[in-house]
Amino acid sequence: MHNYSDSCRREAKKIGLVPTMGYLHEGHLSLVREAKKLSDIVVVSLFVNPTQFAPNEDLAKYPRDVERDKMLLEKEAVDVLFMPDAGEVYPADYQTYIEVQSIAKKLEGSSRPAHFKGVTTVVGILFNAVRPYCAIFGQKDAQQAAVIRQMNKDLKYGINIIVAPIIREEDGLAMSSRNVYLNEQERKDALVLSKALKTSEYLLTHGETDTKQLIKNIESIITSAGTSKLDYIAIVNEDNFESADHLESGFSYYILIACWIGTTRLIDNIYIKK
Ligand code: AMP
Repeated sequence: MHNYSDSCRREAKKIGLVPTMGYLHEGHLSLVREAKKLSDIVVVSLFVNPTQFAPNEDLAKYPRDVERDKMLLEKEAVDVLFMPDAGEVYPADYQTYIEVQSIAKKLEGSSRPAHFKGVTTVVGILFNAVRPYCAIFGQKDAQQAAVIRQMNKDLKYGINIIVAPIIREEDGLAMSSRNVYLNEQERKDALVLSKALKTSEYLLTHGETDTKQLIKNIESIITSAGTSKLDYIAIVNEDNFESADHLESGFSYYILIACWIGTTRLIDNIYIKK
């Protein structure tokens, strides 16, 4: 990868990196298309990163279909599929981790304490291996993108971090590799996430600015599904992910939801520019 990246640099070709854990869907492919617009060479990495899964999480059963992924990426005319081996990324004597502080400690960081440390470490390794001009992440994982932006700034990677919009199924469910875990009833129940966010959007356009009221409303929609169990609802400032009491004009926010549908943990969010 280093040799390839060096040769691209010599030819003044810009690399766009799309990091993924595979089992690709239209959400991932939208990032690939964005990378194409912004760079000369598109590198998609596929690595199911063990360090971002807690021991009780779904590493072993995380869905995988490399042959299908290869076919989809060939269709998109991706230049490089980078699939490093876990033993090469983390050899037996591996000792170095990247840990972003404040912004990585709340919400996802609080529910999944070791998660972001694993994410930033592997993304740091991928940045060093690929040395891209830009890297594309999905708003689907809005906090992850903000954490990586912070890491990129603090560690002076100098990579352009791009955040691309959430791609949804026709009925509104945000696409996710984990949706495959949902049974028929859960798939229906999973719609409460996008429904709650859509309702918030409606209330916001009709003048609601009190975040407590918005959160109350979201909570009642989420808990209306038989198989749902709420993890968190948060309304935060776009940059630092600090929670916002009031929405003021001229500022941007995320409304974020994490909840369990049966045994599957789903996340979704909307971006709000006041
Ligand atoms: P993953 O393979 O789940 O680690 O995701 C790889 C990248 O795809 C991350 O930057 C995600 O935020 C992004 N992504 C996942 N789902 C979607 C979606 N529905 N729309 C847009 N981007 C997504």
